[in-house]
Amino acid sequence: MNVYIQTDIEGIAGWASFEDVETKTVENLEHRKRMYDLLTAEVNAAAKAAKDSGAQRICINDSHGTGYNIAFEELIEDCEINHGRGSHFPTWLPAMDEGFDALVLVGMHAMGGELEGVCPHSKWVVNDGEIYLSEASMAMALAGDLCIPAVLVSGDQVITSEVRNKVPQIRIAQVKHSYGPFCCRSVQPIRARKLIYNGVKEGLANLGSIEPYKIQGPVKLNLLDSEGHIPPLKPVLAEAATGNTITDAFNKAVKKFPWSRFGSRIMDHYRYPTSFSGAQRKD
Ligand SMILES: [Zn+2]
Repeated sequence: MNVYIQTDIEGIAGWASFEDVETKTVENLEHRKRMYDLLTAEVNAAAKAAKDSGAQRICINDSHGTGYNIAFEELIEDCEINHGRGSHFPTWLPAMDEGFDALVLVGMHAMGGELEGVCPHSKWVVNDGEIYLSEASMAMALAGDLCIPAVLVSGDQVITSEVRNKVPQIRIAQVKHSYGPFCCRSVQPIRARKLIYNGVKEGLANLGSIEPYKIQGPVKLNLLDSEGHIPPLKPVLAEAATGNTITDAFNKAVKKFPWSRFGSRIMDHYRYPTSFSGAQRKD
């Protein structure tokens, strides 16, 4: 059994505001380091559960911002990690292919405009509003095209219920209750890790009873968002991307986004830390 773990940071226990990559203060540096450590431990709980369930291959995708958030030296030995230069991987979910048996979603956040959730952003519109997808459910749909079911999602009550409405059999680890975009009540990190560990184990033990999330093609796709993710949200693409499958439409859409250059091999003196889009720092 092979397990793919997609990660983000806004849905971890303890996270309550967008990441501030500008402010150069000790407080901000320490806060960000704490958040990366909390993320690392939640991801590690999922990886341990996959290993204890018999997974041979565990691939983790470090997918927030810079794509370099997880302290991979803290992870169990039996996993690999995709990391570095967010938005410049050849695809959004590198290495994801038919060889995987299950998808795990750690640290997921509500879709754009869902103001009950912490840090809501990104709202995919399928077929002019027939279906709306968060980043979490988009990952499930891309995996669904490969017949891979998602076994667990962790985050607040808003994202976990959106995902569960789409795939009722998925296990959830609700690690916080959000009161709004920048306010939530979190469980202790030790509890969050147990919820994730137990959810992944239970999901993998019941793999056969969890349906892959499939969206029938052809698909017309756009993304709604705005400056600072503040509503009203507007279509990011002037013209929606179309494709025979959700994967096809997604790959076309992301290549057109101003902040992503998926698959490009430009040499532009990229250095860490910097804007994850690769723009040169102004300082
Ligand atoms: Zn993120």
